[in-house]
Amino acid sequence: MAFEKLGLVSSILTAIEALGYTKPTPVQSKVIPLVLEGKDVMATAQTGTGKTAAYALPILQQLAKKEIKEKSKRSIRALILVPTRELAAQVGKSIEAYGKELDLKSCAVYGGVKFTPQVKKLENGIDILIATPGRLLEHVKQESVNLSKVEIVVFDEADRILDMGFWSEVETLLALVPKKRQTLLFSVGLSKSVKRLSEISMKKPIKIEINNQGDLAKKVKQTIYVCDQDKKCELLSFMIGSQNWHQVLVFTKTKQSADEVGAYMEDSGLKTLILHGDKAHSARTKALKDFKAGTIRVLVATDIASRGLDIEDLPHVINYELPGDAEDYVHRIGRTGRAGKEGEAISLVCKEEKSVLKEIEKILKYGLKVEFYKGFETKEWIDKEAKKSTIKGRIERSQEKRLTQPNSIVGMHKRKAKEKKQEHKKGRK
Ligand code: AMP
Repeated sequence: MAFEKLGLVSSILTAIEALGYTKPTPVQSKVIPLVLEGKDVMATAQTGTGKTAAYALPILQQLAKKEIKEKSKRSIRALILVPTRELAAQVGKSIEAYGKELDLKSCAVYGGVKFTPQVKKLENGIDILIATPGRLLEHVKQESVNLSKVEIVVFDEADRILDMGFWSEVETLLALVPKKRQTLLFSVGLSKSVKRLSEISMKKPIKIEINNQGDLAKKVKQTIYVCDQDKKCELLSFMIGSQNWHQVLVFTKTKQSADEVGAYMEDSGLKTLILHGDKAHSARTKALKDFKAGTIRVLVATDIASRGLDIEDLPHVINYELPGDAEDYVHRIGRTGRAGKEGEAISLVCKEEKSVLKEIEKILKYGLKVEFYKGFETKEWIDKEAKKSTIKGRIERSQEKRLTQPNSIVGMHKRKAKEKKQEHKKGRK
């Protein structure tokens, strides 16, 4: 289906054509007509599926339709809430590009940068506000924004907004926007809290499911290397160096670990930058810019970077550690294999992470093949694998199973003998 058939006007079609979009993605085909009809829409889709344009294009069209009489008196008519600074900046840029041909103004506000320049922009009047909840509330308190004229509210990556603990900010903001409005919600998964948010904020939303997690992840070649935790840094730098990879995004679970891995990579001679929540906004922006430009080889990041990161053609994503939340695995590996391109995601897994791996497989709905990287095998796993593959090992395992199974004859005899012995002992006492 072509974009024309979705009901978009020529000024928007021209802008997206200039961006090289030739046909809508599945989320765009489904969501755009519904938003144009004024419906509340709740869609499960993640970054990389084209969801920004799915809501931004029809919003721009709806807002542009209503002519503003006094341009100096613009008011915020669309509010887009996002979880992170990175996503706010990215959505802000996309909206500017999509609305290039329209007389609409937008602005992205988020923390970690100076407050006053944002106030100045807001004072000049805007139609669309993209914001992280915390910074938006600061603006509300300072009275630099007025949300009483909002017609459309978007929750972009609603699950992450709530995961980050913004529930009370969201409730406060919902009380400030008019009750009569259109609400759109995009989320990767439908957790209990996302469902609750939809209940309190939406009217008869139309639910759209684009892809399940497993399908999304299938676009990416996934490899799991089992190795010891204390060998991971060595393996990581060896893998990158020996295969001459030039743009590798490495995920760690904690900021501390990101700092340590980053330092190790740098010491190994690999040009590396680190991206996590403690870094100043300017440092984070620079790290991303340099990484995108290819001037650094390795970007070590915590999950903050797993969403809202838009880097095309990223060939390698490495999970130095599996994420604490299994759902983040899909977001992380979604940084590669975007827009139909091939990508590879490698996870270094130590034995303490086996339970998380199981959780991930549950979400994906399929198992992941576990391998060893030559020279970095763990002794425990080698012994276990060897035992599995020998005939003696197989017999031993089946015997162990029979003895522990409650219905097995051998197990039953053994248990009965044990019980008799205990009774006998008691009798003697
Ligand atoms: P998003 O999921 O909104 O973060 O979009 C992911 C990437 O896909 C961005 O680089 C968009 O510019 C791009 N994109 C969105 N829609 C289309 C489309 N219909 N055709 C080609 N690229 C697109």
